[in-house]
Amino acid sequence: MDISVIIPLYNEEESLPELFAWIQRVMNENGFSYEVIFVNDGSTDRSWQVIEELAAKSENAKGIKFRRNYGKSPALFCGFEKAQGEVVITMDADLQDSPDEIPELYRMITEEKYDLVSGYKKKRYDPLSKTLPTKLFNATARAVSGIKNLHDFNCGLKAYRKEVVKNIEVYGEMHRYIPYLAKNAGFNRIGEKVVHHQARKYGTTKFGLNRFVNGYLDLISLWFLSKFGVKPMHIFGFLGSLMFIFGFFAVVAVGAHKLYAMYSGQPYILVTDSPYFYLALTTMILGTQLFLAGFLGELIARNSPERNKYQIEKEL
Ligand code: UDP
Ligand code: MG
Repeated sequence: MDISVIIPLYNEEESLPELFAWIQRVMNENGFSYEVIFVNDGSTDRSWQVIEELAAKSENAKGIKFRRNYGKSPALFCGFEKAQGEVVITMDADLQDSPDEIPELYRMITEEKYDLVSGYKKKRYDPLSKTLPTKLFNATARAVSGIKNLHDFNCGLKAYRKEVVKNIEVYGEMHRYIPYLAKNAGFNRIGEKVVHHQARKYGTTKFGLNRFVNGYLDLISLWFLSKFGVKPMHIFGFLGSLMFIFGFFAVVAVGAHKLYAMYSGQPYILVTDSPYFYLALTTMILGTQLFLAGFLGELIARNSPERNKYQIEKEL
Protein backbone atom coordinates (compact mmCIF):
# COMPACT_ATOMS: atom_id res chain seq x y z
CA MET A 1 0.00 0.00 0.00
CA ASP A 2 1.31 3.46 -0.89
CA ILE A 3 -0.34 5.80 1.58
CA SER A 4 -2.08 5.72 4.95
CA VAL A 5 -3.93 8.88 5.88
CA ILE A 6 -4.56 9.19 9.60
CA ILE A 7 -7.26 11.56 10.77
CA PRO A 8 -7.75 12.17 14.49
CA LEU A 9 -11.14 13.69 15.15
CA TYR A 10 -13.31 14.88 17.95
CA ASN A 11 -16.84 16.01 17.09
CA GLU A 12 -16.32 16.73 13.41
CA GLU A 13 -19.40 15.06 11.91
CA GLU A 14 -20.10 17.78 9.32
CA SER A 15 -16.62 17.72 7.82
CA LEU A 16 -16.04 14.00 7.42
CA PRO A 17 -17.97 13.12 4.22
CA GLU A 18 -16.56 16.13 2.39
CA LEU A 19 -13.02 15.38 3.57
CA PHE A 20 -13.20 11.72 2.60
CA ALA A 21 -14.62 12.47 -0.84
CA TRP A 22 -11.83 14.96 -1.42
CA ILE A 23 -9.12 12.49 -0.36
CA GLN A 24 -10.66 9.81 -2.58
CA ARG A 25 -10.62 12.14 -5.55
CA VAL A 26 -6.94 13.07 -5.06
CA MET A 27 -5.91 9.44 -4.57
CA ASN A 28 -7.76 8.20 -7.63
CA GLU A 29 -6.42 10.99 -9.83
CA ASN A 30 -2.88 9.98 -8.86
CA GLY A 31 -3.43 6.22 -8.85
CA PHE A 32 -2.32 5.65 -5.27
CA SER A 33 -3.33 2.61 -3.26
CA TYR A 34 -4.37 3.94 0.11
CA GLU A 35 -6.29 3.68 3.34
CA VAL A 36 -7.87 6.44 5.41
CA ILE A 37 -7.89 5.72 9.13
CA PHE A 38 -10.37 7.83 11.06
CA VAL A 39 -9.57 7.83 14.76
CA ASN A 40 -12.69 8.87 16.61
CA ASP A 41 -11.43 10.34 19.86
CA GLY A 42 -14.58 9.85 21.93
CA SER A 43 -16.83 12.16 19.90
CA THR A 44 -20.21 12.91 21.42
CA ASP A 45 -21.86 13.77 18.10
CA ARG A 46 -22.66 11.54 15.12
CA SER A 47 -19.04 11.28 13.92
CA TRP A 48 -18.82 7.52 14.44
CA GLN A 49 -22.03 6.81 12.53
CA VAL A 50 -20.66 8.89 9.68
CA ILE A 51 -17.43 6.87 9.71
CA GLU A 52 -19.41 3.62 9.69
CA GLU A 53 -21.36 4.82 6.69
CA LEU A 54 -18.15 5.76 4.87
CA ALA A 55 -16.57 2.39 5.70
CA ALA A 56 -19.64 0.56 4.43
CA LYS A 57 -19.38 2.34 1.11
CA SER A 58 -15.61 2.20 0.59
CA GLU A 59 -13.05 -0.36 1.66
CA ASN A 60 -10.44 2.40 1.84
CA ALA A 61 -12.13 3.94 4.86
CA LYS A 62 -11.19 2.46 8.21
CA GLY A 63 -11.94 3.55 11.74
CA ILE A 64 -10.84 3.32 15.33
CA LYS A 65 -13.27 4.36 18.04
CA PHE A 66 -12.10 5.36 21.51
CA ARG A 67 -14.47 4.75 24.35
CA ARG A 68 -13.77 8.24 25.68
CA ASN A 69 -11.89 11.39 24.73
CA TYR A 70 -8.15 10.90 25.23
CA GLY A 71 -6.66 13.69 23.10
CA LYS A 72 -5.01 14.13 19.75
CA SER A 73 -1.72 12.42 20.63
CA PRO A 74 -3.27 9.13 21.76
CA ALA A 75 -5.42 9.21 18.62
CA LEU A 76 -2.34 9.62 16.44
CA PHE A 77 -0.52 6.91 18.35
CA CYS A 78 -3.24 4.34 17.65
CA GLY A 79 -3.48 5.44 14.03
CA PHE A 80 0.29 5.00 13.65
CA GLU A 81 0.06 1.49 15.06
CA LYS A 82 -2.59 0.49 12.55
CA ALA A 83 -1.08 2.20 9.48
CA GLN A 84 0.13 -0.06 6.67
CA GLY A 85 1.11 2.40 3.93
CA GLU A 86 4.73 3.07 2.97
CA VAL A 87 4.05 6.77 3.52
CA VAL A 88 1.91 7.89 6.43
CA ILE A 89 0.14 11.22 6.29
CA THR A 90 -1.62 12.84 9.22
CA MET A 91 -4.29 15.44 8.69
CA ASP A 92 -6.81 17.32 10.81
CA ALA A 93 -10.46 16.48 10.26
CA ASP A 94 -11.73 20.05 10.14
CA LEU A 95 -10.96 20.70 6.44
CA GLN A 96 -8.31 23.25 7.39
CA ASP A 97 -5.67 21.05 5.75
CA SER A 98 -5.98 20.36 2.05
CA PRO A 99 -5.74 16.81 0.66
CA ASP A 100 -4.37 18.36 -2.54
CA GLU A 101 -0.98 18.49 -0.80
CA ILE A 102 -0.78 14.70 -0.58
CA PRO A 103 0.91 13.90 -3.94
CA GLU A 104 3.73 16.38 -3.36
CA LEU A 105 4.25 15.21 0.23
CA TYR A 106 4.39 11.63 -1.06
CA ARG A 107 6.96 12.62 -3.65
CA MET A 108 9.16 14.36 -1.09
CA ILE A 109 9.24 11.25 1.11
CA THR A 110 9.76 8.70 -1.64
CA GLU A 111 11.99 10.64 -4.05
CA GLU A 112 13.76 13.24 -1.94
CA LYS A 113 14.14 10.64 0.80
CA TYR A 114 12.89 12.74 3.68
CA ASP A 115 12.05 10.92 6.91
CA LEU A 116 9.45 13.49 7.82
CA VAL A 117 7.92 16.45 6.04
CA SER A 118 5.97 18.96 8.07
CA GLY A 119 3.41 21.30 6.61
CA TYR A 120 3.94 25.02 7.05
CA LYS A 121 0.81 27.16 7.15
CA LYS A 122 2.58 30.25 5.90
CA LYS A 123 -0.61 32.14 5.32
CA ARG A 124 -2.96 31.27 8.15
CA TYR A 125 -6.66 31.78 8.52
CA ASP A 126 -6.81 31.76 12.28
CA PRO A 127 -7.49 34.59 14.75
CA LEU A 128 -4.54 36.80 15.75
CA SER A 129 -4.80 35.55 19.33
CA LYS A 130 -3.60 32.23 17.96
CA THR A 131 -1.12 33.18 15.27
CA LEU A 132 0.96 35.51 17.43
CA PRO A 133 1.66 33.11 20.32
CA THR A 134 2.27 30.44 17.68
CA LYS A 135 5.22 32.43 16.31
CA LEU A 136 6.77 32.58 19.76
CA PHE A 137 6.02 28.91 20.35
CA ASN A 138 7.76 27.88 17.15
CA ALA A 139 10.80 30.05 17.80
CA THR A 140 11.22 28.40 21.20
CA ALA A 141 10.68 24.93 19.80
CA ARG A 142 13.28 25.60 17.09
CA ALA A 143 15.85 26.77 19.61
CA VAL A 144 15.30 23.92 22.07
CA SER A 145 14.99 21.08 19.57
CA GLY A 146 17.76 22.27 17.28
CA ILE A 147 15.57 21.66 14.23
CA LYS A 148 16.34 25.01 12.67
CA ASN A 149 14.40 24.66 9.42
CA LEU A 150 10.89 24.14 10.78
CA HIS A 151 8.49 27.07 11.06
CA ASP A 152 5.38 25.23 12.12
CA PHE A 153 5.88 22.33 14.53
CA ASN A 154 2.21 21.91 15.34
CA CYS A 155 0.87 21.70 11.79
CA GLY A 156 -1.59 18.82 11.63
CA LEU A 157 -0.60 18.00 8.07
CA LYS A 158 2.58 15.93 8.08
CA ALA A 159 4.05 13.07 6.10
CA TYR A 160 6.30 10.31 7.39
CA ARG A 161 8.23 7.37 6.15
CA LYS A 162 6.53 4.29 7.63
CA GLU A 163 9.62 3.43 9.68
CA VAL A 164 9.40 6.74 11.52
CA VAL A 165 5.87 6.29 12.86
CA LYS A 166 6.60 2.70 13.89
CA ASN A 167 9.61 3.83 15.92
CA ILE A 168 8.42 6.87 17.83
CA GLU A 169 5.94 6.99 20.64
CA VAL A 170 3.58 9.96 20.74
CA TYR A 171 1.92 10.30 24.13
CA GLY A 172 0.32 12.90 26.40
CA GLU A 173 0.13 16.05 24.29
CA MET A 174 3.40 15.47 22.48
CA HIS A 175 1.80 15.68 19.03
CA ARG A 176 3.12 19.24 18.98
CA TYR A 177 6.68 17.96 18.99
CA ILE A 178 6.64 14.94 16.72
CA PRO A 179 9.58 16.30 14.67
CA TYR A 180 11.57 16.58 17.90
CA LEU A 181 10.59 13.03 18.90
CA ALA A 182 11.67 11.83 15.46
CA LYS A 183 14.95 13.67 15.73
CA ASN A 184 15.63 12.15 19.15
CA ALA A 185 15.00 8.73 17.62
CA GLY A 186 17.67 9.44 15.00
CA PHE A 187 15.54 10.47 12.03
CA ASN A 188 17.42 13.48 10.78
CA ARG A 189 16.04 14.25 7.36
CA ILE A 190 13.27 16.57 8.37
CA GLY A 191 11.79 18.83 5.73
CA GLU A 192 9.07 21.37 5.33
CA LYS A 193 6.49 22.18 2.72
CA VAL A 194 4.40 25.33 2.53
CA VAL A 195 0.76 24.23 2.56
CA HIS A 196 -2.53 25.94 2.00
CA HIS A 197 -4.62 26.61 5.04
CA GLN A 198 -8.29 27.41 5.29
CA ALA A 199 -10.51 28.81 7.97
CA ARG A 200 -12.48 26.23 9.90
CA LYS A 201 -15.67 25.53 7.97
CA TYR A 202 -17.69 23.59 10.56
CA GLY A 203 -17.51 23.16 14.31
CA THR A 204 -15.09 24.89 16.67
CA THR A 205 -11.46 24.54 17.71
CA LYS A 206 -10.81 21.90 20.35
CA PHE A 207 -7.81 23.57 21.97
CA GLY A 208 -7.91 26.77 24.02
CA LEU A 209 -5.15 29.20 24.86
CA ASN A 210 -3.85 26.86 27.55
CA ARG A 211 -2.24 24.99 24.67
CA PHE A 212 0.65 27.42 24.91
CA VAL A 213 1.27 26.90 28.63
CA ASN A 214 1.04 23.12 28.28
CA GLY A 215 3.07 23.20 25.10
CA TYR A 216 5.83 25.10 26.84
CA LEU A 217 5.91 22.68 29.78
CA ASP A 218 5.95 19.69 27.42
CA LEU A 219 8.86 21.20 25.57
CA ILE A 220 10.85 21.49 28.79
CA SER A 221 10.02 17.87 29.67
CA LEU A 222 11.13 16.66 26.26
CA TRP A 223 14.34 18.63 26.35
CA PHE A 224 15.12 17.35 29.79
CA LEU A 225 14.27 13.76 28.90
CA SER A 226 16.38 13.78 25.80
CA LYS A 227 19.34 15.32 27.67
CA PHE A 228 19.21 13.58 31.04
CA GLY A 229 16.45 10.98 30.81
CA VAL A 230 18.80 8.03 31.13
CA LYS A 231 21.46 9.73 33.24
CA PRO A 232 19.75 12.05 35.75
CA MET A 233 22.78 11.93 38.04
CA HIS A 234 24.76 13.85 35.46
CA ILE A 235 22.73 16.98 36.07
CA PHE A 236 21.49 16.60 39.64
CA GLY A 237 24.71 15.05 40.93
CA PHE A 238 26.76 17.78 39.34
CA LEU A 239 24.64 20.66 40.65
CA GLY A 240 24.29 19.00 44.05
CA SER A 241 28.01 18.42 44.47
CA LEU A 242 28.77 21.94 43.35
CA MET A 243 26.35 23.44 45.87
CA PHE A 244 27.51 21.21 48.69
CA ILE A 245 31.17 22.02 48.15
CA PHE A 246 30.41 25.71 47.89
CA GLY A 247 28.34 25.60 51.10
CA PHE A 248 30.95 23.59 52.91
CA PHE A 249 33.77 26.01 52.18
CA ALA A 250 31.50 28.92 53.04
CA VAL A 251 30.82 27.40 56.49
CA VAL A 252 34.53 26.80 57.01
CA ALA A 253 35.20 30.40 56.03
CA VAL A 254 32.62 31.73 58.50
CA GLY A 255 34.14 29.61 61.31
CA ALA A 256 37.71 30.49 60.39
CA HIS A 257 36.85 34.14 60.32
CA LYS A 258 35.48 33.95 63.85
CA LEU A 259 38.49 31.99 65.18
CA TYR A 260 40.88 34.43 63.57
CA ALA A 261 39.06 37.40 65.12
CA MET A 262 38.96 35.64 68.51
CA TYR A 263 42.68 34.90 68.66
CA SER A 264 43.83 38.22 67.29
CA GLY A 265 41.84 40.03 69.94
CA GLN A 266 39.33 41.70 67.62
CA PRO A 267 35.60 41.87 68.40
CA TYR A 268 33.69 38.88 67.10
CA ILE A 269 30.16 37.51 66.95
CA LEU A 270 28.74 34.04 67.38
CA VAL A 271 28.79 31.96 64.22
CA THR A 272 25.02 31.53 64.52
CA ASP A 273 24.58 35.31 64.52
CA SER A 274 26.08 35.60 61.04
CA PRO A 275 23.66 35.53 58.11
CA TYR A 276 26.35 33.91 55.97
CA PHE A 277 26.26 30.87 58.20
CA TYR A 278 22.62 30.24 57.34
CA LEU A 279 23.13 30.87 53.66
CA ALA A 280 25.98 28.37 53.63
CA LEU A 281 23.95 25.83 55.58
CA THR A 282 21.00 26.13 53.20
CA THR A 283 23.31 25.68 50.24
CA MET A 284 24.70 22.49 51.75
CA ILE A 285 21.24 21.11 52.45
CA LEU A 286 19.97 21.93 48.97
CA GLY A 287 23.10 20.39 47.51
CA THR A 288 22.47 17.16 49.39
CA GLN A 289 18.84 17.14 48.25
CA LEU A 290 19.79 17.64 44.62
CA PHE A 291 22.33 14.87 44.85
CA LEU A 292 19.71 12.59 46.35
CA ALA A 293 17.24 13.51 43.59
CA GLY A 294 19.87 12.47 41.06
CA PHE A 295 20.46 9.20 42.84
CA LEU A 296 16.74 8.42 43.04
CA GLY A 297 16.47 9.32 39.36
CA GLU A 298 19.22 6.82 38.58
CA LEU A 299 17.40 4.10 40.50
CA ILE A 300 14.22 4.82 38.55
CA ALA A 301 16.04 4.99 35.21
CA ARG A 302 17.73 1.68 35.98
CA ASN A 303 14.35 0.04 36.36
CA SER A 304 12.91 1.52 33.19
CA PRO A 305 12.01 -1.08 30.57
CA GLU A 306 13.20 1.48 28.01
CA ARG A 307 16.74 1.69 29.37
CA ASN A 308 18.18 -0.54 26.67
CA LYS A 309 15.95 0.39 23.80
CA TYR A 310 17.95 1.61 20.84
CA GLN A 311 17.13 2.47 17.26
CA ILE A 312 18.94 -0.16 15.23
CA GLU A 313 18.78 0.81 11.58
CA LYS A 314 20.49 -2.19 9.98
CA GLU A 315 22.18 -5.42 10.95
CA LEU A 316 24.28 -7.81 8.88
N1 UDP B 1 -8.82 16.47 18.07
C1 UDP B 1 -8.86 15.19 18.61
N2 UDP B 1 -8.99 15.05 19.97
C2 UDP B 1 -9.07 16.12 20.82
C3 UDP B 1 -9.00 17.42 20.26
C4 UDP B 1 -8.86 17.55 18.89
O1 UDP B 1 -8.79 14.21 17.87
O2 UDP B 1 -9.18 15.93 22.02
C5 UDP B 1 -8.67 16.64 16.61
C6 UDP B 1 -9.71 17.58 16.00
O3 UDP B 1 -10.93 16.94 15.77
C7 UDP B 1 -9.02 17.98 14.73
C8 UDP B 1 -7.55 18.02 15.12
O4 UDP B 1 -7.45 17.24 16.32
O5 UDP B 1 -9.19 17.02 13.70
C9 UDP B 1 -7.05 19.44 15.36
O6 UDP B 1 -7.94 20.10 16.26
P1 UDP B 1 -8.41 21.60 16.03
O7 UDP B 1 -8.76 21.83 14.62
O8 UDP B 1 -9.45 21.88 17.04
O9 UDP B 1 -7.09 22.39 16.41
P2 UDP B 1 -6.61 23.78 15.79
O10 UDP B 1 -6.79 23.71 14.29
O11 UDP B 1 -7.44 24.82 16.42
O12 UDP B 1 -5.15 23.84 16.17
MG1 MG C 1 -8.15 23.08 13.10
